[in-house]
Amino acid sequence: MEYKADMRDMKFQLFEWLPTTKLLEAERYAEWDEENISMVLDEALKIAQEQLAPTNVDGDRIGAQYADGKVTLPESFKPAYQTLCEGGWVGITTNPEFGGMGLPEVVGSAVNEFFFGANMALSLHVLLTRGAGSMIENFGTDEMKQLFVEKLYSGEWGGTMCLTEPQAGSDVGAVKTKAVKQDDGRYLISGEKIFITSGDHDLCDNIIHLVLARVPGAPPGTKGISLFVVPKFRVNPDGSLGEPNDVYTAGIEEKMGIHGSPTCSLVFGQNDACEGFLLGEENRGMKLMFHMMNAARIEVGLQGGALAGAAHQAALAYAKERLQSRHWTKFADKTAPQVPIIEHPDVRRMLMWSKAYTEAIRALLLITSYYIDMTHVTEGEEQERYQSYVNVMTPICKAWGSHWGMLVTNTALEVFGGYGYTAEYPAEQYMRDCKIACIYEGTNGIQALDFVARKLPMKGGKPVMELMGMAEKTFKKLKDDPQFMEPAWMLAGALKTMQTISKELQKRPDGMLITLLDAFPMLDMVGTILGAHFLLEQAAIAKQKLGAIFESKGVDPKDEDASKKLLEDDADAAFYHDKVQTAIHFCYRALPLVSAHAAAIRAGELAPMHAVMR
Ligand SMILES: Cc1cc2nc3c(=O)[nH]c(=O)nc-3n(C[C@H](O)[C@H](O)[C@H](O)COP(=O)(O)OP(=O)(O)OC[C@H]3O[C@@H](n4cnc5c(N)ncnc54)[C@H](O)[C@@H]3O)c2cc1C
Repeated sequence: MEYKADMRDMKFQLFEWLPTTKLLEAERYAEWDEENISMVLDEALKIAQEQLAPTNVDGDRIGAQYADGKVTLPESFKPAYQTLCEGGWVGITTNPEFGGMGLPEVVGSAVNEFFFGANMALSLHVLLTRGAGSMIENFGTDEMKQLFVEKLYSGEWGGTMCLTEPQAGSDVGAVKTKAVKQDDGRYLISGEKIFITSGDHDLCDNIIHLVLARVPGAPPGTKGISLFVVPKFRVNPDGSLGEPNDVYTAGIEEKMGIHGSPTCSLVFGQNDACEGFLLGEENRGMKLMFHMMNAARIEVGLQGGALAGAAHQAALAYAKERLQSRHWTKFADKTAPQVPIIEHPDVRRMLMWSKAYTEAIRALLLITSYYIDMTHVTEGEEQERYQSYVNVMTPICKAWGSHWGMLVTNTALEVFGGYGYTAEYPAEQYMRDCKIACIYEGTNGIQALDFVARKLPMKGGKPVMELMGMAEKTFKKLKDDPQFMEPAWMLAGALKTMQTISKELQKRPDGMLITLLDAFPMLDMVGTILGAHFLLEQAAIAKQKLGAIFESKGVDPKDEDASKKLLEDDADAAFYHDKVQTAIHFCYRALPLVSAHAAAIRAGELAPMHAVMR
């Protein structure tokens, strides 16, 4: 399968919009500069296109196979995975002390967009492996760090996160898996986990499971959950592999997409011989697990954006080739030739809408990753401020990124017409693969509850207000620019609506029920406002650069023919021009959703609660 990515926009967002170059001046990133990061990005895209994308169809059609307690992956996954390991891509953002590349998260997110877009099933494996390594690096004993972290960051061993059980999905506190302490300090683990991504496979020699379990007498709910490191094969003190550790793979799920990613049922300790090692302290496991879950939530939002980007690029290329119908200006002329479908206004609208949401999701993911980097290079209050932005934006990245990313893959499929529905083209796989991002790592409904219950009121609402304040600055900057005036005022209107709704809800007697009912719409309101703010900020930069190109080429923007020629001939001019159009489109087509949601919230519309639903 061919994979196309918008490298121009990626580099624009990284270096012309975000202050990544300034970030690289920090000592932590001393060996990186714009030039070598640009080379990293080019190399990552090359690997995505040449190694990962060609195996994406095998992942889908052959998929993970289960037989006799073992999972195998398509043969073509192995060399592709080997390339990722050998190039150090598994540990791209991790600590160089343990063999990581030490790149900033903002660059890691850019690279991961390419990898997820090219082959989501295979890249999921990398996400979990890096996450498991980071957990042990942050919370493990020195011995654990020495035994596991480098092997995980290099990809030699794989990692998983084992939370879900049949009765414990969204309700993680209902976990029943047991952990009983032995005299030598080890724990014996017993229980069943389901839906475990990369729970078993043949890419690596060993798999290190991070397992949530309860010790005897633990309090009920999430306060009684502990976290354990449970290897598939026991590990000897010298790092070599020992006996199998009584972890049995009972089966894998048949599912809608990501067929190349095994979703496993694991039975721990069916012979009472599964040893685990406590990470951190007893009953503190959930708190630690959030370290991995929050990072994974951001990467799941990224998956939505990555597949949106891949689907949009595929649709764009197809729309330039597929000939159907006459040009709209020659509709009555039956002898006029067929034109590429990109000429039809409705197709252009679908493409523009997809591009706008894809770039807004990319912006959201990149700026959140940049804020994570800022927590690493700042101290005190400044560090706390960046951390609070990351906390607020994590559920928005996950839920807004996957929700709209999924809808972009849906629209991109429609651009292909009937061919989009067939397996001959990639659109249907992108759409099937993307759906899971709305569900795992906590469904989007659960993300929205986290957003309204914890993140909105956090620190008296200060972080959200500060983020909204940045959007207000964008409005003030653009409100007098004739080209952006109306979109900017629409942004101001959306901000005002959001503020009023938040205040009103606090005073209403039915405020709690409405907040629970409208948690996702409220998350969507904030996500949409942020999207408009980011795209308008980017458009303002693009407009300035476009003006400079016109000036340097001596073209008068009022001269329509000369302007058209310049946009045809100059790739940068075309890029900046479209950046401006993209922001305008997003404001007109997305921002009205804020007032639509607000109308229902204000009216206290409770039909879903009043309905009998027989
Ligand atoms: C392909 C795949 C891979 C996965 N990988 C992993 C993995 O690696 N590790 C792991 O531990 N798990 C994994 N999961 C599990 C996944 O995280 C859960 O499926 C998810 O958290 C939802 O749990 P559930 O399926 O039990 O749904 P349920 O919890 O039954 O939810 C069903 C619906 O009810 C809603 N709901 C539930 N509770 C509430 C509430 N309090 N308020 C409002 N709405 C609510 C949900 O939002 C959802 O819409 C994976 C799942 C899949 C399908």
